[in-house]
Amino acid sequence: MQRESETTKDIVVIGAGVVGLSTAIRIQEKGGYRVTIVAETFPTDPKTIRYTSHWAGAHHVSILEMDKETFETMWTDSKHGGPLHGCFLRYNHSEYRSDGVDPTEWLDYMPEFRSIPNDELVPGATRGWTFTTFTLYPPAYLNWLLDRFLTNGGTMVHAQLQHVSQAVHGGISGLPQKPDAIVACIGLGARFLGGIEDKKVYPIRGQTITLKAPWVKYGRTLSGADGSYFYLMPRVNGDVLVGGIRVADDWFPVPRAQDRDYVLAGVLAICPELAPPEIRAKRVPTIDDLRPLIVEEGCGLRPGRIGGIRLETEWLEAGPQSEIPVVYNYGHAGMGFQSSWGSASLALGLLEEALASGKPGTPYH
Ligand SMILES: Cc1cc2nc3c(=O)[nH]c(=O)nc-3n(C[C@H](O)[C@H](O)[C@H](O)COP(=O)(O)OP(=O)(O)OC[C@H]3O[C@@H](n4cnc5c(N)ncnc54)[C@H](O)[C@@H]3O)c2cc1C
Repeated sequence: MQRESETTKDIVVIGAGVVGLSTAIRIQEKGGYRVTIVAETFPTDPKTIRYTSHWAGAHHVSILEMDKETFETMWTDSKHGGPLHGCFLRYNHSEYRSDGVDPTEWLDYMPEFRSIPNDELVPGATRGWTFTTFTLYPPAYLNWLLDRFLTNGGTMVHAQLQHVSQAVHGGISGLPQKPDAIVACIGLGARFLGGIEDKKVYPIRGQTITLKAPWVKYGRTLSGADGSYFYLMPRVNGDVLVGGIRVADDWFPVPRAQDRDYVLAGVLAICPELAPPEIRAKRVPTIDDLRPLIVEEGCGLRPGRIGGIRLETEWLEAGPQSEIPVVYNYGHAGMGFQSSWGSASLALGLLEEALASGKPGTPYH
């Protein structure tokens, strides 16, 4: 009879953003796997432009079918008094649009979903919908995921890989000598990592401003006919994150002053209530009234991908006449948090299919 340690499979997950951590946990908690995460940046590291997950909002406004699984999981996590109390905030969200898109099909399962009457629309909107959802505070959430992974017995290895084969052939201290499979959750890194170099992956730059505005307890987005997209989302600590920059192929790594003013003007137009109540009592507020409320500015590069998220398997040479599966799970653009558990489950399915059959699983399209 084989001992359990001999049947347990060694999996290396590359990447410790929200996608890598969630995927590693899904694999661990299925049972039968020993999981090592190797990454250049972990949530415990300082914020850097090379790690997108720290910069997200993050709110949940579903778009993909897989987002539903994440919503269900995080809805439970966001329960008042639960283990993630202090990280999640449930709130009322209003989605306004003038781009002709009707999101009912992918949003109508969200609690208290209804359309907003025309006389309650914000300036610039032609339609609107409202529902209950949540925000989470990314640094706290990511560290909670890492803690869960380590408590489950996972191993973390800090290293920047130059080629995916470095995860296969050993040589990096802490990695298993002969892993059974690799799972690549490398976000924008997929464009550069040798052996993958996926040129369909590109940055979509975002710039955010955190305002201390505890009097705003709701969130709003406006998707304009001209492609503009402004949003504000409240956080559990009384801060409100605002943004409105979504520019493809812009690698600029720090906040720009003109982007800050563009965002402040856009969000003030859809939510004048961001300005302090005592100012609004006296006059119409301007963006100068928001500047003293700024507590942080940041910018992040969303990992966009032509064709959407890559969820598929390939086989990599792992020695004489031997190959191992590499499951890809990257390219989540502006949805990595809300797609995280759903895409982690799909990646686990691909992994198990490949290990069981010795053949690639069915890609997700
Ligand atoms: C301003 C902004 C607002 C956003 N708001 C939301 C929101 O409200 N809701 C939402 O769902 N999403 C939001 N997003 C999107 C979300 O942040 C991303 O989709 C998500 O963070 C992507 O996660 P990831 O794990 O794929 O990538 P990352 O977080 O970038 O992680 C990639 C990991 O791979 C590692 N890696 C890469 N290459 C290598 C290598 N060669 N060797 C070793 N390690 C490597 C990195 O070190 C890192 O650990 C927002 C993004 C931005 C910028």
